Amino acid sequence: MSIKELHLAHTQGFCAGVVNAIDIVELSIKKFGVPLYVRHAIVHNTSVIDDFEARGVIFIESLDDVPDQQVVVFSAHGTAPNVYEDAKKRGLTVVDATCPLVTKVHRQAVRYSDRGIHIILIGHRGHQELIGTSGYINPELLHIVEDVNDIHSLSIPSDAEVGVLTQTTLSVDDTSDLIKELQYKFPNLITGGKEDICYATQNRQDAVKKLAKFCQLIIVVGSANSSNSNRLVETSKLMGVDSFIIDLPEELDLTVLEKFEIVGVTSGASVPSYLMDRLVTSITSHFSKVKVFQENTIEKDILFPLPKEVSDMRQA
Ligand code: SF4
Repeated sequence: MSIKELHLAHTQGFCAGVVNAIDIVELSIKKFGVPLYVRHAIVHNTSVIDDFEARGVIFIESLDDVPDQQVVVFSAHGTAPNVYEDAKKRGLTVVDATCPLVTKVHRQAVRYSDRGIHIILIGHRGHQELIGTSGYINPELLHIVEDVNDIHSLSIPSDAEVGVLTQTTLSVDDTSDLIKELQYKFPNLITGGKEDICYATQNRQDAVKKLAKFCQLIIVVGSANSSNSNRLVETSKLMGVDSFIIDLPEELDLTVLEKFEIVGVTSGASVPSYLMDRLVTSITSHFSKVKVFQENTIEKDILFPLPKEVSDMRQA
């Protein structure tokens, strides 16, 4: 047996939030020069980060590592309000690359928090987006839920108003199960159903589900710290199809493909298309008879607005 068909997910790779965040760093380099400071990995992809580092971008986690009066870009995952305040006190110029879909969650967090509503925030502890969103919520009203065990240990007064928010890059199916469980525990839970999972996460998981109906293996290109890429592996496995993640195409052991005839490939929302191109070239050069298939993407061009600090540079 050996690979005969290679199917590319119809929708994969960069989402609008990632395109915007990368543009913002590019335009900031043009406008302010290097070294340019970026707080946290601008997007969770090793190749993108390595490329920017090679061009003079310095990624830091703490504002203490940014010299006074410098420019600092905040990553797509969102940043807690106290960090903006610290930057202001320090006289730093902030260029905010937070994805507008994450900002939307921050606004809802503030609305709930101001009304004294207890907020159940579903997401992965330690993930940058969850840390940022948590910062907009009164700590006495914040309850982080990662799995069903966390739901069982919640202690919120039974007469309290309770709302739910989520990270944008979760598994659609897992989140809907957790929300059902929460509704059982809090019948008046304020929820929209699948909450804040963004269009890009939903579309990439739907595309994997489509592949999983007929593929025997699904390879996901994405970095280990990329939440949405890891969810693609899980989505595939949940549908009973073997799957694994690789950061770079060169990491793939091509002999693995001798055990499968129909293989699917996809990539997370922070993965540049040149990595997928390299993967396909590597597979088709090694297995010359393999046929490659891909349907058109279901996503239309979405363009998010740039922050005012660099908006004059898009036309420049
Ligand atoms: S995955 Fe969704 S929320 Fe995250 S940057 Fe992309 S569009 Fe924005």
